[in-house]
Amino acid sequence: MEFKTHISVKNLSVFYGKEPALKNITVDIPDKKITAIIGPSGCGKTTLLKSFNRLVDSIDGIKVSGEVLVDGENIFDPEVEATHIRKKMGLLSQRPYPLPMSIYDNVAYGPRIHGMKDKKKLGEMVEHYLKESSLWSEVKDRLHTPASKLSIGQQQRLCLARGLAVEPEIILGDEPTSALDPKSSQRIEARFLELKKEYTIVVVTHILRQAKRLADYVIFLYLGELIEHGPAERIFENPKEEMTKEYIKGTIS
Ligand code: ADP
Ligand code: MG
Repeated sequence: MEFKTHISVKNLSVFYGKEPALKNITVDIPDKKITAIIGPSGCGKTTLLKSFNRLVDSIDGIKVSGEVLVDGENIFDPEVEATHIRKKMGLLSQRPYPLPMSIYDNVAYGPRIHGMKDKKKLGEMVEHYLKESSLWSEVKDRLHTPASKLSIGQQQRLCLARGLAVEPEIILGDEPTSALDPKSSQRIEARFLELKKEYTIVVVTHILRQAKRLADYVIFLYLGELIEHGPAERIFENPKEEMTKEYIKGTIS
């Protein structure tokens, strides 16, 4: 697959204390496509995702070596500020964590922090991003009620809206549908397929069927090692590595 690279990972190793969680990972992530990181539990998927926005920084005893270039800039360079990196990325975690405030304020939160004061514009932004997240029609009459009153599925879409309102370039999802019912999961997946026109999306999943539905490109991790990566179709139809074959067949998990 010929592509424009958005995130370039070079010889990335991550240690929690003495235990390696990622071993010398080198891989390029394509711009405006969906990349799925697959692999069994505990294999380093979350660690890899978190290293993209330097969330690994905040963990005690962690050691990182190698490079992650985002738009050509090494995010581990001490000159680069974490906030500058994080502004480029919206993160959806396994469970939604809406802020303890209204639906409206959740979406307005990022733009307000970045200095948006115009009330009318802010209202338009809130509407726009709630529409982008397929939540608008369900909440438009109760924007000023607490976000905590929403269902889990709606909360996850609200978190997506909150992330998009910061106008990132990259959406990171760490098993973002794992707490959701099938209908809510479908809504998130449908949004991802639409949003990839404008955003680079990296989604961790251990659901192979989800990876097949979503991914243009796949990274297979096993015990901290990158076993294989490439276009989704090639990986699923014609994996090169024995380990990938077995994982896709379901003989290892
Ligand atoms: P995955 O997302 O694929 O389940 P993780 O990236 O969460 O994998 O974890 C990879 C490995 O690193 C696991 O062995 C896990 O126990 C270990 N690990 C993850 N987070 C921490 C942490 N904060 N402290 C120590 N070990 C950790
Ligand atoms: Mg994980």
